Amino acid sequence: MKERIYTIPINEAFDKDSECPICICERKLENDALEYAIGPAMMEPDNRIETNKKGFCANHFAKLYNFEKNRLPLALVIDTHMVEQIKEIEDIFKGYGLSSGDENKGPLKAFKNAFFGMKQDGKAIDQLVEKLESLEKTCAVCDKIEHNLDKLIENTLYLYSKEPEFKKKFINSKGFCLKHFKMLLKKAPKALSASSMTEFIDDIVPLELKALKRVQEDVNHFTKMFDYRNQNADWKNSRDAVPRSIEKLSGPCDLKR
Ligand SMILES: [Zn+2]
Ligand SMILES: [Zn+2]
Repeated sequence: MKERIYTIPINEAFDKDSECPICICERKLENDALEYAIGPAMMEPDNRIETNKKGFCANHFAKLYNFEKNRLPLALVIDTHMVEQIKEIEDIFKGYGLSSGDENKGPLKAFKNAFFGMKQDGKAIDQLVEKLESLEKTCAVCDKIEHNLDKLIENTLYLYSKEPEFKKKFINSKGFCLKHFKMLLKKAPKALSASSMTEFIDDIVPLELKALKRVQEDVNHFTKMFDYRNQNADWKNSRDAVPRSIEKLSGPCDLKR
């Protein structure tokens, strides 16, 4: 049997009344990954090699900054990340015979361009743009979440197929956000047996459609409450329909609720 971690948090998330229990788990995974990035583990060489190379996406840089008052661990991580990135940028220029310092300006630069043509500059720029684009796409926190979320989805499917009590919770849930609905569908053929797979599709598709229709009706009801003729009408379950629908469509997002 593969790792069966997260089965307790999965069970707990399904016990809660929410639009997507996997979103509850993903938020926890994100929190753990943020804590890890600037916790004691950040002093471990393996971890530092990773953060020096990948850095963080803008979203997670902001979350790390807002995470706690003590800025030292984050500063240490940023410091060595920047040293590595500066060196890589410099190396690209040097690799094309272009200096990254002042001596390459003015007449000498004009001479070099006349000698080598502008080709070297062009190539260096292409490689640098490529490097910066790949750096933009890497994030040590995103990668950790993605890795653990993958296992979590697999374990959810495992619980669904092996534990009748959990299956009951699954069927009686309010469905999932579209992101996690997709992840469950994508993983199911690999994680479930053929017979379990048929059952799973018969369960999850009607469950999800029912949930989407319910949320859409709540949003629709919300819009109708702005009609003066409905001044005294009942809001029913529509007061938080807008943020709830956004979360249903997008998965975990930081809405001010
Ligand atoms: Zn979700
Ligand atoms: Zn990220």
